[in-house]
Amino acid sequence: MISLKNVNKRYGERVKALIDVSFNVKQGEFVYLVGPSGAGKSTLLKLLTREETLTSGSIKLGNMQVEKVALNKLYLLRRQIGIVMQKDLFIPYYSVFENIAYCLEALGVRGALKEERGLEVLELVGMSAYKDKMLQELSIGQQKKIAIARAIVNKPFVLIADEPTANLDTKSSAEIMKLFFRLNQRGTTVIMATHDSTMVNSIRKRVLELQGGRLIRDDHDGGYTSYA
Ligand code: ADP
Ligand code: ADP
Repeated sequence: MISLKNVNKRYGERVKALIDVSFNVKQGEFVYLVGPSGAGKSTLLKLLTREETLTSGSIKLGNMQVEKVALNKLYLLRRQIGIVMQKDLFIPYYSVFENIAYCLEALGVRGALKEERGLEVLELVGMSAYKDKMLQELSIGQQKKIAIARAIVNKPFVLIADEPTANLDTKSSAEIMKLFFRLNQRGTTVIMATHDSTMVNSIRKRVLELQGGRLIRDDHDGGYTSYA
């Protein structure tokens, strides 16, 4: 379902962000991507979404050869992926529901179906009661839930998240993680970059560890020693 073969990514001539990275992820898997700052985690996620282009190697996602997708077909790739970034950008003068509706419109969903689907994803993340609030009125944890709702409006088969629990307190982190596990149980593949060793160690899943751009570990229910 996701397959990387000998992937290399350089920024300019000197920075080797990823070196000969290969692995496969099956449909329905949950994968933690760990490693110290600068290890290449964000770069790896950006290659999957084609926010960055690889230097050599190949990446397959579903039935698409990621590095070969034409620019005018990128939307087809991105439609299959839900993305939760480190910083969630919303339209500040739109309500929670309007922010979700805006994404649905971009996907060509309109009218009653837009209402229905919008409310459905807000329900799924436990935020329907907040649909008419403005984003600034929500806590960071609540905003993260809206970001997750937005990421799943297109029913992606893979959900990619970059440090989704960064800057959250323990309780909010646990809620966000629970949400990802629930979505995973519904069949969505999840790939999550994280520094949250407590979480990785308490809820064991597959762990891919990067260090200096190399994949140094792939454990099927691995733990994680935190980096100071
Ligand atoms: P993290 O370590 O949590 O990924 P960083 O602070 O390293 O966050 O990076 C933040 C953003 O800046 C990322 O999108 C990353 O790709 C980009 N970035 C990191 N290093 C550089 C660099 N040397 N030049 C330009 N952009 C960079
Ligand atoms: P992580 O997410 O694990 O912190 P990154 O993928 O952000 O790691 O960064 C991997 C390496 O690539 C780092 O050395 C970082 O400085 C560098 N890097 C990331 N983005 C860029 C960029 N846009 N331009 C130049 N160097 C970058």
